[in-house]
Amino acid sequence: MNKKASADKPAAFESISQWYMETDVVIVGGGGAGISAAIEAADAGAKVIVLEAASDAGGSTALAGGLIYMGGGTPTQIACGFEDDTEEMFKHLMMASGPNADEDKVRLYCDESLNHYDWLIEQGVVFKPEYYPHKHTNTPNEAALMTTGNEEAWPFIEHSKPAPRGHKPQIEGDHGGIPLMEKLIASAQSKGVNIICDARALTAIADHEGTVKGIVVRIDGQEQCIHAKRGVVLTSGGFIMNTDMVKEYAPRLARGNYPNGNPNDTGGGIRIGIGAGGNAINMHEGFTCTPHYPPRQFLEAIIVDETGQRFINEDVYHGRLGSAILDRPDRRYYLIIDSRHFEILERPPKGGYSVAGVGDTAEELEQEINLPEGTLVNTLNTYNRFAAEGKDPVFHKAEKYLSGLDQPPYAAFDLTIGNGAFYAVMTFGGLDTLPTGEVLTVEKQVVKGLYSAGRNSAGLPRCADGYASGMSIGDATFFGRLAGQSAAANQ
Ligand SMILES: Cc1cc2nc3c(=O)[nH]c(=O)nc-3n(C[C@H](O)[C@H](O)[C@H](O)COP(=O)(O)OP(=O)(O)OC[C@H]3O[C@@H](n4cnc5c(N)ncnc54)[C@H](O)[C@@H]3O)c2cc1C
Repeated sequence: MNKKASADKPAAFESISQWYMETDVVIVGGGGAGISAAIEAADAGAKVIVLEAASDAGGSTALAGGLIYMGGGTPTQIACGFEDDTEEMFKHLMMASGPNADEDKVRLYCDESLNHYDWLIEQGVVFKPEYYPHKHTNTPNEAALMTTGNEEAWPFIEHSKPAPRGHKPQIEGDHGGIPLMEKLIASAQSKGVNIICDARALTAIADHEGTVKGIVVRIDGQEQCIHAKRGVVLTSGGFIMNTDMVKEYAPRLARGNYPNGNPNDTGGGIRIGIGAGGNAINMHEGFTCTPHYPPRQFLEAIIVDETGQRFINEDVYHGRLGSAILDRPDRRYYLIIDSRHFEILERPPKGGYSVAGVGDTAEELEQEINLPEGTLVNTLNTYNRFAAEGKDPVFHKAEKYLSGLDQPPYAAFDLTIGNGAFYAVMTFGGLDTLPTGEVLTVEKQVVKGLYSAGRNSAGLPRCADGYASGMSIGDATFFGRLAGQSAAANQ
């Protein structure tokens, strides 16, 4: 094989005279999905090689907060005094996944959630049975359990019974991905999985019938061919770091100023899969968030656009707010607080918002931030009138956050895109797969020998509007396992 490998075109199996290595299953990418696949494939008796482009395994999963969405009555939920029901979880995740939800995947994920929890425990993952009761981006202490999505917010609250389902592996603060990946990697290595780092997969190797039989990889500057007798699993993450792909497939996400991922989130595995005959779906979708909490007291604020009008219940998950703003990205947006909230501002808000203006009265603030005359005053009057009755008839913010904003002076934070506010983005599009991880063509035929999971595929998370923290790592680890099982079984 002399020609330079290109992801778009698999190398011909029949043309390869010398193999650099031979194994049963090759896994491309050593993050949450890849290492979970490796563990299962090894448990099924396969010889497994993981190729990892970075100098260490872990991927975005290791960088992550580590929240894993699980429910139906996990031991952690029960220990913290919560009841949950698989059907309620299913209803919520169907709504959270939006119009492009993959019902088969959602169903299986919910039905198997308790088993997946047990599997993580078997790998050595520890969840401290403690509940964190406030809205936050992650548990700030070592507590495992919190509500991570829109479960308690309108309209989701009307469709399923909420329960806290975000589970963080034990560690203080927003770093749960580290203990998770440490345990998974140690488990994989204890089962004989060979993790080769600084090894970038370039393209698939397929025979004349299109069956994938190996991978071309660059190691030490040399292109090498590895024979995968049972199959190749693509788990190399999403494409948020590839600006050309983002512009082409998910231009909405290009407005974000914080690509949420690792430097190898360049879509390489998606391109390898397409080159081998796979189809990519849901490529336009992704996570978009601006963390308007913590501090949680900001849920008592209102958020208005440049017309001085509210447009959302402010107690939603920050991804739903980010998505609503990205729907109309050229407007100005402000978060309005009154003097009762000033005392919590010893630390700047997590979203990096600058102060856009202050006013001794609502009229003064309205002028200061250049809103049409009377608009903010009217919005505040209406909001306060109903808040006094514990109601929010148009946007349905939960009563516990309706404390009213009637204690001047007022201040406005700037949430406008491009004015310093933090907008994190990551992709939800990837290879079309069956729940088993088998990659599908445009005609929904299986590409033999090829599997995928995690952000390399279109999995559980499908839309920004309903996303909950934990759906990505839950998806990557759970469907990664299934892809590993399927590849190992392909004899
Ligand atoms: C800061 C941050 C916080 C987050 N918090 C959460 C959270 O709390 N809960 C949650 O559910 N989600 C969270 N996410 C999202 C979540 O971490 C990811 O979506 C998920 O972990 C992706 O898993 P993966 O296995 O698909 O990819 P990854 O874990 O990224 O693994 C992919 C691996 O493939 C490697 N790779 C790429 N290309 C190649 C190639 N050509 N050859 C070989 N190797 C390659 C990469 O180096 C990487 O190691 C967070 C993300 C970030 C960045």
